[in-house]
Amino acid sequence: MDCVACSSAAMTERPQRTARGYRRFRCRDCGKQYNERSGGVLNHAQTRPT
Ligand SMILES: [Zn+2]
Repeated sequence: MDCVACSSAAMTERPQRTARGYRRFRCRDCGKQYNERSGGVLNHAQTRPT
């Protein structure tokens, strides 16, 4: 999984999960935090009807 903000691969998985059970990640390069549902290509595909 690459950072959606800076495309870095230096992602750290947090031990905590969200209330819905999604894994959380943090970018060590830019510090951005998100879970597996809030960032990335998958979410984009679902929220952008073609
Ligand atoms: Zn980043």
